[in-house]
Amino acid sequence: MKRNFTPKVKLKHGIVIYRKRRKRGLLSVFFLLILLILGFYYIYTNVIVSEVVPNLVGKNLEEAKGLVSQSGFDLEVSEKFSDLPEGTVISQKPDSGSRVKRGKLIVISVSKGAERTSAKEVPTDVETDLSEGLGEATPEAFEEDSEDFEDLKVTSFEFIVCIDPGHQGHADNSPESIGPGSTTTKERCRGGGTGVNSRTPEYEIVLQIGLKLKKMLESEGIKVVMVRTTNDVNISNSERAQIANEAKADLFVRIHCNGSSSTSSNGIMTLYPSRNEWCGSIYDESRKAAQLIQREMVIACGRANKGIIARGDITGFNWSQVPVVLSEICFLSNPEEDTLLNDESFQNKAARGLFNGIVKYLK
Ligand SMILES: [Zn+2]
Repeated sequence: MKRNFTPKVKLKHGIVIYRKRRKRGLLSVFFLLILLILGFYYIYTNVIVSEVVPNLVGKNLEEAKGLVSQSGFDLEVSEKFSDLPEGTVISQKPDSGSRVKRGKLIVISVSKGAERTSAKEVPTDVETDLSEGLGEATPEAFEEDSEDFEDLKVTSFEFIVCIDPGHQGHADNSPESIGPGSTTTKERCRGGGTGVNSRTPEYEIVLQIGLKLKKMLESEGIKVVMVRTTNDVNISNSERAQIANEAKADLFVRIHCNGSSSTSSNGIMTLYPSRNEWCGSIYDESRKAAQLIQREMVIACGRANKGIIARGDITGFNWSQVPVVLSEICFLSNPEEDTLLNDESFQNKAARGLFNGIVKYLK
């Protein structure tokens, strides 16, 4: 049949084919280009700016920290009761072997030892507003002394400090015993205060100060155990004390901001355990630490000195087997102090004050 085609037809046919071929060629170049772009994008995101997540499960926390920072990731650590030895990584996210962008947050949970039967199933957390009952308390006189504070450097790793930034993102008002064996209960973890003007929650401010303090202590070679490094936790006050106990902390430092129904209340105070049935053996050391920290806080922050106060009703004190203090850094209910507490340079001063007091105590 083809033989019967006239040249005209052939010509037409030829043009059509020619055009088709040309289109195909252009299309191929186009697809090749897309492929190249996609390939480059793939290599860029998966090789150039990403990293393989290392396996952290089963390692101890220090090892895990090293691996994570080597790979250029950030690390977030939470603690869980577990039968694994304390400080062992239980789980991680994302999983090991996955490729993710450098700088991404790796979230791990670390064993804080086996759960104790006395604190088991205690579903709540939160302490009473610490400004409560202060009317009856007698602040002790603030003792000025002329010691100089130079040479605060601690050069060895012999000290462990446990830092508890008070409260958490969500209050847990279910009850727990205020001390071992006690039938008296309090909320596991109360909600805490809120800035009168800023509306910033206390848990946020004290975490910022706690993290700054952690850095300062670590730069001095002091080991720091954080009760929490995020707001998204549920750790009761007795559990917080047990974290300090298990860390065998030389000092357990709890950070709070005060609150009052009067907007004029202001200043700094430090609480420590009273000599009750639970805290007799830590009373003297805790009081000594409270005095030193109170003095350094007042100097560093330049706020009113409200003294040190012994308290027998604080769950996080009564469960503690290690010396413990609770710093009430200014009043979120006071407009001026609310502004200060939201100011990073003031937060640094507060952390510095705590640091100076802690180091003086450890020495
Ligand atoms: Zn508080």
